[in-house]
Order: sequence, then C-alpha cells, then structure tokens
Amino acid sequence: MLRNDQLDQWDRENFFHPSTHLAQHARGESPSRIVTGGKGVYIEDRDGKTLLDAFAGLYCVNVGYGRTEIADAIAEQARELAYYHAYVGHGTEASITLAKMVLDRAPDHMSKVYFGLGGSDANETNVKLIWYYNNILGRPEKKKIVSRWRGYHGSGLVTGSLTGLKAFHDKFDLPLSQVVHTEAPCYYRRPDLAMSEADFVGHCAAELESLIEREGADTIAAFIGEPILGTGGIVPPPAGYWAAIQPILQKHDILLIADEVVTGFGRLGSMFGSDHYGLKPDIITIAKGLTSAYAPLSGSIVSDKVWKVLEQGTDENGPIGHGWTYSAHPIGAAAGVANLKLIDELGLVENAGRVGAYLNQAMADALAGHAHVGEVRGEGMLCAVELVEDKDKRAFFDPGRKIGMGVAAAMARSGVIARAMPQGDIIGFAPPLCLTEAEADRIVDVARAAVEEVLG
Ligand code: PLP
Repeated sequence: MLRNDQLDQWDRENFFHPSTHLAQHARGESPSRIVTGGKGVYIEDRDGKTLLDAFAGLYCVNVGYGRTEIADAIAEQARELAYYHAYVGHGTEASITLAKMVLDRAPDHMSKVYFGLGGSDANETNVKLIWYYNNILGRPEKKKIVSRWRGYHGSGLVTGSLTGLKAFHDKFDLPLSQVVHTEAPCYYRRPDLAMSEADFVGHCAAELESLIEREGADTIAAFIGEPILGTGGIVPPPAGYWAAIQPILQKHDILLIADEVVTGFGRLGSMFGSDHYGLKPDIITIAKGLTSAYAPLSGSIVSDKVWKVLEQGTDENGPIGHGWTYSAHPIGAAAGVANLKLIDELGLVENAGRVGAYLNQAMADALAGHAHVGEVRGEGMLCAVELVEDKDKRAFFDPGRKIGMGVAAAMARSGVIARAMPQGDIIGFAPPLCLTEAEADRIVDVARAAVEEVLG
C-alpha cells in the first residue's frame, strides 16, 4: 500500500480537482482528504478517522454507504456484460427494467426516460430536446430558457449558464445568450423586509411576467427550476410559489423542466419533489438518487406531450441526432435497479420524511435562537442554517471572513461533514435517507457546538 505522504504528493502534482482552489491545492496550502471506505452514514479516511457524512457525498448517497446489494448487482452486471450501447434500439435487461421502474414512480403524465451519466449532461439533453421540440413545431424563435438566480443545474456550457451562481459564470464567458435569469424564490432574501411571504410570491411572479414581456413569449421555450433550491442555499419555496409560477408558464406556452437531481427518489419524503410541491413538469431531470451514486447515471424523463413531438420529429427527419456512448450504461442501470429496490425495501422515502422532519425541528430548537443564526430552514432530508452578522437587520457577514467555511471545518474536526454552501454563510445538511434520530441528534449537537466555537 502506498504511504499517505506519497499519495498526497501525487495528488498535489497530478490531480485537477473540481470546485477546488487549484493554486492553493497544488501548493499544499489547503486541506485534502483521502477517503477509503464507508458504511451507513459514515465514511472513513486514510488517517483512520470516521466521519458522519451529513451531506451524503454531494447529496447523492441516498441509501447510505456500503450497500452490498448494489455492489453485488454491479459486479454481476460487469461479469455478465460490462457494456453494450443503447443506440438504434439496443438495450439490456437492466436498462429496460430501470426505465420501467423510473416511469412507474414518476408522475402519471410522464412517458419515457432517456439515460445519461450525470445531472449536467441530463440538463444539456433537456435543452436540446426542447430546441428540437420547438423546431418540429415550427417555432424556431422560441428557444430561450428561463432559470432562477441561485438555481443549480450543472457546470457545462448550457447547464453552467442555467446555474444562477456567480462562480459558475465569471471568467467562463457565461451565461450564454439563450439563458435568462429571474428572481430566486428565497424569502429570507426578499428585497424589502416588510414583504409578507404572499407579497414576495407576488413579486417573484411579477418579475417572471415582466421578463417574459421584455424578452417576448415567442422567444422563450422553457423554465427550469429545482422544486426546492439546493446548491443555492437549500431554500424551500415560499408557500404558493409553484402555484403562482405554473399558470404563467402555461399562459405563455413555456415548458417546465423540474430539475429533480437532488429531490428525485425520496429526499423530500415524497418520491419526487414534483409530487411534493404540486408541479406538472414537461421534463424531469434525475441523477444522484437514481443510483445513490454507486455508479454514474442520470435521466431525462419526458412527458407524453413532449414525447409525441419527438416522435413526429423522427418520422419527419429520421433518427434523433442525440446520444452518448455511455447512455444507459449497463453497470449504471444495474446499480439503479438495485438502488430503487433497496429504497422501497428499506422504506427510505418514508424515513426521509419522518427523520428529516425530526432533524429540521431539532436543528431549529438548537440554533434558531442563536444571535448569529438568521434562519434554520429545510424540507424532508434537507436542512440549512444561515449565519448572519446582525439578525434583526438581516446583515450578512463579509464573505471574506468565510464564516460558513469556518463552521463546516469546526464540524469536520468533531467528526461530522456538513457543506458550506456557496453564496452566503450557509451550512447545508443532506444526509443519507437512512439517517436515524440518534444520528440526527449527533449532527445537531456538533452543529451547535461548531456555531458556538466560531461565533460565540
Ligand atoms: N441539477 C441539480 C439540481 C444539481 O444539484 C446538480 C448537482 O449538484 C446538477 C444538476 C448537476 O449534476 P452533476 O454534478 O451530476 O452534473
């Protein structure tokens, strides 16, 4: 086995890490961790440390670590048939079964699922399908996609444009001109503190209406949104938000993409976030929870309405010019089948709702009263603590002080991983859906101690 210092040196010399301060990492100035194993909600690193992973990797290891049922399914698939493509009608038992399992769980009006590899490429697929859709319908000008500030939809060219976070745009020449952004449904950041939640929903709806007016409805193809904002700060929508937004989209014949990469397959205590918040999407993006990240796999679930036009398109133009070598990869599909079975067998959707509510309540009880906690919020197995300089005035800390990162680092020293979310001093929690109440108590205890350590 390689020595830790050797691995660390190779890492700094050779490995280009995503979402990392590249210069500091290469110079050895920032911490790194070499992860070796995991079981349940815990991971282990090469220094022999065990940590409770209260972010499930990147909110993706929904069934928890070390599930042999999925590992065995992957191994069996690899032995039997590691790969065959899905072009021109090819499939495997795993990919066909998984497509059926996904559609059985999806809202009734959904029709088919296209499999990709990750959330970014799935959203890339969605945009292409929507452009194709409007070309087939003879509306070549109707192409723009509306996204929200603080939305997260990936980091490709189009998907990084859809993402409404500065760090994903600045210096990358994004967003592309086909993407326009509207107000984030983040009540805590309402423009006027005097606004009620209902006023703020009215404001979000009015902002969307005026954007559509400005751009012209005949240029806007779709609206993309996560049912609950994830990377943008784990922010549940204000009450009535989706009920106010959807009629506007319908009125202007704008398709709705529900990006359920985080919420799909149980995280909110419902199979899909669309069920949870009453969305009727035209396309649903899935990834993370589809395989609990045991293998890379994503999907674009398209509705009957979209599917009919895609069929018309291929009748008129021949086979659709879209596909990845690894679409519906058999190993990913086998992982997906085993994962969805396990979610059912272990009752994880119900557990996410129940223990998630317990976690959110316990976190609020422990921290909502703290002088520097502006808000504790969440839904299902998602929770966030927003730290502020002055609670009454809603004054945020100077970002240069990196308060959120300091609290997350203090938590990690005590053996619990939480995520310092971008754009705000926001500590995010998205544990595996198998979390127990005792594990939730530990997360809360460590979070409270870390906030007190950093902020008194
Ligand atoms: N959409 C949402 C809502 C996400 O949270 C993410 C990743 O966190 C993505 C898309 C992009 O997925 P990936 O990182 O697999 O490309």
